[in-house]
Amino acid sequence: MQPLFNHYFEPLAAVGAGPDGRNCLAYTAEEDLAHERFCAQLRALGVVPQQDAWGNSYGTWVGTGDEGCGPLIAIGSHLDGVPNGGRYDGVLGVAAALVVLHRLQQQGWPGRLRVIAWRGEESARFRSSCLGSKGASGLLTEPMAAQRLDAQGVSLRQAVQGCRGQAPSPVAAGMALLELHIEQGPLLARLGRQQQRPVVGVVSAIAGSRRQRWQLPNIGVARLAALLLAVHERVATLDSPEQPLRVTFTPVQGAPNVGRDHTLLRCRDPQQAALLAAVGSGTVCGPNVRFQGPHTFHSGGQPMNQREGVDQIIVAARAVVASSLNEGLQWPDFQVQAGFHLQLDLRAGDAARMTEALAQMLPLVQGVGGQVVELGETPADALSSSWAMQMQEVAQRLGIAVLPMVSGAGHDVQVPPLSHKGLLFIASQAQGVSHHHSEAVQMDEVVAGLRLLEAVVVAHAAQGGA
Ligand SMILES: [Zn+2]
Repeated sequence: MQPLFNHYFEPLAAVGAGPDGRNCLAYTAEEDLAHERFCAQLRALGVVPQQDAWGNSYGTWVGTGDEGCGPLIAIGSHLDGVPNGGRYDGVLGVAAALVVLHRLQQQGWPGRLRVIAWRGEESARFRSSCLGSKGASGLLTEPMAAQRLDAQGVSLRQAVQGCRGQAPSPVAAGMALLELHIEQGPLLARLGRQQQRPVVGVVSAIAGSRRQRWQLPNIGVARLAALLLAVHERVATLDSPEQPLRVTFTPVQGAPNVGRDHTLLRCRDPQQAALLAAVGSGTVCGPNVRFQGPHTFHSGGQPMNQREGVDQIIVAARAVVASSLNEGLQWPDFQVQAGFHLQLDLRAGDAARMTEALAQMLPLVQGVGGQVVELGETPADALSSSWAMQMQEVAQRLGIAVLPMVSGAGHDVQVPPLSHKGLLFIASQAQGVSHHHSEAVQMDEVVAGLRLLEAVVVAHAAQGGA
């Protein structure tokens, strides 16, 4: 299955690829090229490619049965990415759909399969995500697209003109929709290493989010680190592998040099939390190690995007934190810049735990004289739980290990208003980093995901789409 996967994956992943990652932003010439290649791949499979009014590309194959006999099943993902992004985010899912189509054709499968490449899933250009799937689902309208501008002042409506097609939306009533995606966290890779076999994620819900700005007074590094460690301790009691609670902090003011690499800023690990305090302050001296904060991972005013540099910072920070904690040493009380603001992004699969976590954090912020400003919320979105259960049964029959999961990030599959929506995750071998060119996969894990995806399609059709 690996050569077949590479056959479909490599030409799509190569679009926009460079030494610092893949650059294929929403509604650009690169994304157009990726869609052209996808359409050529469909044609080679004997399927006529179509474009809808939002530039989404798709093709529908009808097997040897009569049209209308089997349920319509679609598999889709996206071909765009973030600046200097990874090769697998989105592209993996589109290539997987083509592999499944290819194999089912060879097997003479009698069902109906639609393969979709969505446009503009990432919010990097228009600061709004899942543009193609929202447009195809009627959740994004022409007037809304006219008002949404990129950094150059180009409207989404203008950007769509170049790739607009005449075909109807790929979202059809009663259609089942599947997506295979790389995990944007570390769980599957960790479990796979422990069990020494591939583990595929079966996602039952997509986490909702709450965003807050914490406006902190001029507290020292040590107090900021203590605050974030206390946050970590309280949140950790609400977190579990099955029901992850994801906390991300981004310095939004008062630490202008801090890179945009979220690896550094995640608060799941107390050492990283302390690291956040460190990078927010500039220079931190520990008893054994001295390192520069922002400057080490910044060069030429560009956010540092080199994995090697990030690793160095983490190693250095761990040494500082570990030695100062073990030896009971005080950190030099460097001052955090006045008016230091942190943006909190909290994600969980259910509202109750999110509310509980925020209730636990609030007194900590208030305790250092800080203020919390609410920035907005996105409700959690359930996928089809009964289908997720069936997928686990299919996996069991195939002998594929699965982990039931909640996704911290949004995906195209959640957008269309359909009753059968399913999402599978493949492990990412990048220590939980997402949207980064260090993204990597192991081929046995990809193959496990492809086998499960194909079997889920066949099982769903065999049950008449129930
Ligand atoms: Zn994606």
